[in-house]
Amino acid sequence: MDTIDLLIIGAGPAGLSTAMHLLQQDPSWAGRMLLLEKAKHPRPKLCGGGVTRLGLRYLRDLGFLMPLPIPQARVDDVRLQYGSRLIHARGQPQFVIFHRPELDAYLAEQARQRGAVICEDEPALSFDVDADGVTVTTSRKVYRSRVVVAADGSKGIARQVLSRGERRRRVARLLEALCAAPESAPHFVERYALMDFTQTKEGLQGYCWDFPARLSPEAVFGMSSPQAHWSLGPGSAGSSQQAHLDGIPAFNRGVYDARLEARRQRAHLPQLLDKFFIANGGKMSDVVLEGHPIHWFSPLNRFAWPRLLLVGDSAGVDSLFGEGIAPALGYGQVAAQTIQRAFTTGDYSFTDYRRRLLNSTVGRYLLQRWSVAEVCYRMGGQRWFMHLVWTIGDALAHLWPELPELYK
Ligand SMILES: Cc1cc2nc3c(=O)[nH]c(=O)nc-3n(C[C@H](O)[C@H](O)[C@H](O)COP(=O)(O)OP(=O)(O)OC[C@H]3O[C@@H](n4cnc5c(N)ncnc54)[C@H](O)[C@@H]3O)c2cc1C
Repeated sequence: MDTIDLLIIGAGPAGLSTAMHLLQQDPSWAGRMLLLEKAKHPRPKLCGGGVTRLGLRYLRDLGFLMPLPIPQARVDDVRLQYGSRLIHARGQPQFVIFHRPELDAYLAEQARQRGAVICEDEPALSFDVDADGVTVTTSRKVYRSRVVVAADGSKGIARQVLSRGERRRRVARLLEALCAAPESAPHFVERYALMDFTQTKEGLQGYCWDFPARLSPEAVFGMSSPQAHWSLGPGSAGSSQQAHLDGIPAFNRGVYDARLEARRQRAHLPQLLDKFFIANGGKMSDVVLEGHPIHWFSPLNRFAWPRLLLVGDSAGVDSLFGEGIAPALGYGQVAAQTIQRAFTTGDYSFTDYRRRLLNSTVGRYLLQRWSVAEVCYRMGGQRWFMHLVWTIGDALAHLWPELPELYK
């Protein structure tokens, strides 16, 4: 049996952020922790890939140079739609969209360069917590660790084991498809992304999105699905550094259903997405739809057990928009501070994690989003309420100064 101070299960944004924050605090963590990853980067990951300013700031504070040197689509204008009404939320940028497999592979490579050891193709199969530590069995070995961080996402083993006693499951449903886009599409020219809440009229507790995206030629060539009817153009098929960085334009479209009000009838997501595709000049029959759940944040969630901390999707992400990348990076920062303190004091009960989390930037962000989602999605079926929200939102968007350039 291998013994270690810290095992992080999952090398997505939450696990990698925990590792990089620990290494930033104390480089000796390089030899004292392991990340277990069931796949191998770049691994497939269903996601809109939108990283908001909060997430970009976490990366900048970790020492990343901005903009990141991977393909990306910048969004300066977020258009929030309800029927014929539009709110423009502007910022320089409001968020940046990455192809998730490429973003995560880049973060993993950066974590490695800083000293993190990532054991890929090594899924954790089970874990057993006792007073002195945690025994983790993987496909290759048995580890004994003083502390474990569960960063293995919404469908990981941590959620499977820990959700058994939960009275209420807080899980959103998402469907997504990626399709080719022309370089001249207004999304790229005007740098906008659309989030359309019109379908709350039909029972959706969420929205449909239409995001511009950019993928490296390598990522497009690696796709085997029929949705890859990409027009690569004469200059883009090469693997030159510039072609890699410019990326190939695509649309990332999908639907998010928070299911906050679990007693209400489920919205028919493929039908709603089909309507959205038609309204935005596309056909759903041309793409491959994929779905994935996400576990959302509520202050009632449990975030820690003695010797075990949850981060990212396994702890719970934003219930309003389903935003999880920036929160995952933020969870990593709080978890790293909590772990560092536990190893200094010898107290591994982690009773302070909840307080630290809820008082942190990411905790306050998630609490705000959760409060708005609780009201808006419960009332979202009422048209007068949505019109009121859009009237107030539009007034605020006009009064609010445009968010300044982040990359200066
Ligand atoms: C369709 C869709 C669209 C989304 N769009 C956005 C968006 O635009 N912006 C945004 O901010 N968020 C978005 N999200 C949410 C976002 O993808 C997640 O919140 C985010 O990935 C959470 O990061 P994480 O590190 O907690 O989990 P993950 O990214 O899921 O990483 C978990 C890692 O653990 C590994 N793993 C799992 N089980 C094991 C195991 N047993 N042993 C070892 N390793 C394991 C997995 O391979 C994976 O690498 C979207 C989600 C979906 C489903």
